[in-house]
Amino acid sequence: MYLEKLNPQQRMAVEHGTLIDGSHIAGPLLVIAGAGSGKTNTLAHRVAHLIVKGADPRRILLMTFSRRAAAEMARRVERICRDVLGSNAGVMADALSWSGTFHGIGARLLRDYAEQIGLDPGFTIHDREDSADLMNLIRHDLGFSKTESRFPTKGTCLAIYSRAVNSETALDLVLRDVFPWCATWEKQLRELFACYVEAKQSQNVLDYDDLLLYWAQMVGEAMIAEDIGSRFDHVLVDEYQDTNRLQASILLALKPGGQGLTVVGDDAQSIYSFRAATVRNILDFPAAFSPAANIVTLDRNYRSTQPILAAANAVIDLASERFTKNLWTERQSSERPRLVTVRDEAEQARYITDMVLDNREEGLTLKQQAVLFRASHHSGPLEVELTRRNIPFVKFGGLKFLDSAHVKDMLAALRFAQNPRDRVAGFRLMQILPGVGPSTAQKTLDLMAEDASPITALGSMPAPPRSGEDWTMFVSMLQELKTGKAGWPAEIGLARQWYAPHLERLHEDAATRQADLLQLEQIASGYASRERFLTELTLDPPDATSDQAGVPLLDEDYLILSTIHSAKGQEWTRVFMLNVVDGCIPSDLAVGTTAEIEEERRLLYVAMTRARDGLDLVVPQRFFTYGQNSQGDRHVYASRSRFIPATLLQFFEACSWPQVKSQTAAQAQARQVRIDVGARMRGMWR
Ligand code: ATP
Ligand code: MG
Repeated sequence: MYLEKLNPQQRMAVEHGTLIDGSHIAGPLLVIAGAGSGKTNTLAHRVAHLIVKGADPRRILLMTFSRRAAAEMARRVERICRDVLGSNAGVMADALSWSGTFHGIGARLLRDYAEQIGLDPGFTIHDREDSADLMNLIRHDLGFSKTESRFPTKGTCLAIYSRAVNSETALDLVLRDVFPWCATWEKQLRELFACYVEAKQSQNVLDYDDLLLYWAQMVGEAMIAEDIGSRFDHVLVDEYQDTNRLQASILLALKPGGQGLTVVGDDAQSIYSFRAATVRNILDFPAAFSPAANIVTLDRNYRSTQPILAAANAVIDLASERFTKNLWTERQSSERPRLVTVRDEAEQARYITDMVLDNREEGLTLKQQAVLFRASHHSGPLEVELTRRNIPFVKFGGLKFLDSAHVKDMLAALRFAQNPRDRVAGFRLMQILPGVGPSTAQKTLDLMAEDASPITALGSMPAPPRSGEDWTMFVSMLQELKTGKAGWPAEIGLARQWYAPHLERLHEDAATRQADLLQLEQIASGYASRERFLTELTLDPPDATSDQAGVPLLDEDYLILSTIHSAKGQEWTRVFMLNVVDGCIPSDLAVGTTAEIEEERRLLYVAMTRARDGLDLVVPQRFFTYGQNSQGDRHVYASRSRFIPATLLQFFEACSWPQVKSQTAAQAQARQVRIDVGARMRGMWR
């Protein structure tokens, strides 16, 4: 019986309000507990239990903040539902039909209710880079980048805008508290943001922030809120500490009395304050949903061995503020986490590669191991070493497949066909053509915008000089896509054929990039329609890198490389953490305020608590910084992260490498993972 596997507190949370009778909907429930205490596990069991007790799986809404956490949550729910309910594929699919990130669910609901709130349902979604591009276009149009010396960059402008929107805070306060060095431009920023909002609306695009903002506004209408709220009997939220005020207000609007609402979270793992997430949501939950809110705390950790848990507890104990209490575990072990000193990043890469292979020889798969880091670029040297030694890996977080120029070009073609008013897509696309520069693209887009059927209008425009044939091909590709006759996913083949000669012309490594595009086509064929593909892809990119050596086939074993942010909610038997030095963690960019440093400490805690049996924190004694100063690249000497002061050394086994393990080059060579290249090539066409 599945309930017997749970401890009494977990069971209380799982059964909360479900025993009374089939139709009873439970009051609000908050589960607050530390890492690895079974929060996600409990949430997944609760879903299964609700279904057993007669809840309609299609009326269960499952949400979390980040994409990786959403994937992890869905995986667990699927597994546990399968265990509890037997492998009834229909029920499983139903239970996951409304599962995803807040942004993803928001996008779906907005399309459903678009007409009622004066939104064109054909809207496209801008990812962060598209948003920054649009911000940049307007920044230039307004002339700020020229007339105002040192005006904030497009990225900073977007960050300020996003912060104000997500925290529901007035611009002057955001500037004062978070971006004081930009405060002198308040007037210009206000104008910029007004134009930005106008541009998005006239182009019928929504950015990430809009998905929440529009959603919150939409449920501000009592009728719509009630309608959406009544579609879901149960709303369950994982990683609640990562939500911001907008998300909390959405939940409150959907379930004003908190009926059927379950949220789980851990204040010690709050690491998204840069997206305006606030621990206050957890702390205020009982008051917001009083007097009915129930609170369950969990205190037993099932994930890590005692020495790992002790070290993680010690790190977080030094935090200035904390609400969840320390965890205990029954998993004894004599192996303390290691603090490994290496000479530099190259040696760090070799150390990890060797250890990963050692572990593999001892029976662990690559997938049971992970390498974590604070910032995406920290893994560069390791990626090179892994590639060199033919070890397949997948990287979560950071520059990926979908961010590469050629893939973005293809997506722009599909997006522009979907929504010819999407200027960022159009602007990018037209400039692929020889002879078309920014001003021609702008003019063409202006003319298109004036017409009710923009693509027809485009067809009747004269080709710009020097781009005759290319222009004709471009227009006919768009017209063909617009008719939708080719059907999905054949359309993507049409776009690829159109793009192929440009790819050849623009990129030296056209062959590798072509392979990426074939892979994109394969991914696309998994989606029901162009619209669905574009929506889901912008919000939820499948993880892949464009580095061929690093892209394993689905059934292959591979090592996980991940930023800490993307490792949320997951666990591995052995975890390696790169660059545990000051400047990397805490990051140089985050040592301004106590709050920032505290968030960096929680990041280290999140990283350490991902490990089940083994944890290595690696400390290179020196590393490259990519100098923002005139000296360019240089080595600096590093010191161990301040989050592991001398008083905490007792929790670790200190060692240095290569002393830890010396081996000959021949031995290392012999232990390389062998890959059947032929199978991989065939796999590409499967
Ligand atoms: P995080 O804070 O990192 O998200 P969590 O609190 O969500 O962690 P889970 O990931 O749900 O914790 O659980 C951690 C591990 O403990 C998982 O491997 C899970 O299967 C296991 N676990 C949870 N509850 C139990 C239990 N009652 N008995 C045995 N194993 C359990
Ligand atoms: Mg979890």
